[in-house]
Amino acid sequence: DRRTAQEALDRLTVDVADWPEQGVTFKDITPVLADHHAFSAIITALAAAGRDDHGSVVVDKVVGMEARGFILAAPVALALGVGFVPIRKAGKLPRATHAVSYALEYGEATLEVHQDGIAPGERVLMVDDVLATGGTVDATRQLVEACGGIATGVAVLMELSFLDPRRLTGDLPVSTLLTI
Ligand code: AMP
Repeated sequence: DRRTAQEALDRLTVDVADWPEQGVTFKDITPVLADHHAFSAIITALAAAGRDDHGSVVVDKVVGMEARGFILAAPVALALGVGFVPIRKAGKLPRATHAVSYALEYGEATLEVHQDGIAPGERVLMVDDVLATGGTVDATRQLVEACGGIATGVAVLMELSFLDPRRLTGDLPVSTLLTI
């Protein structure tokens, strides 16, 4: 259940000080992924964001953001019985894309989605490991909407609340297992 997932995530995530740069504490989830019970529990917990109170699936697609979002979003999509769509860094997708650029702490990043990856009117759950400034989720929401889709929410393992991500995610429903 959710408590088991939260406990496993808290116990197995490794805080790496000053990585990839001074002042950043990187949340390394690879030990969580390496533990079958923990991995299974966090996927079940993330997938709950795609169901209503009765357990009915209320999304049509799950999108994952490169790269750690892929690892989580694909099994969430399978658990919900819906398709998976990758949100990729610039220049990786081979066919016509929508692209959104956004500011990082240092510089800029561009994310892309295939234009036909999400059909107009489809309800889309976004999945990533860490919600930090919210920039990645905000850009992904714009990509979903550029396709005509409806971004119904985001599910993450951890929210770094001290970076105030809700300033960018606004009224988007955020489901998080741990708030830091
Ligand atoms: P942001 O766009 O600032 O919300 O950053 C979110 C993206 O950066 C996610 O895809 C995370 O995987 C990654 N990220 C940001 N901060 C951290 C952190 N402290 N530990 C691990 N990943 C992070």
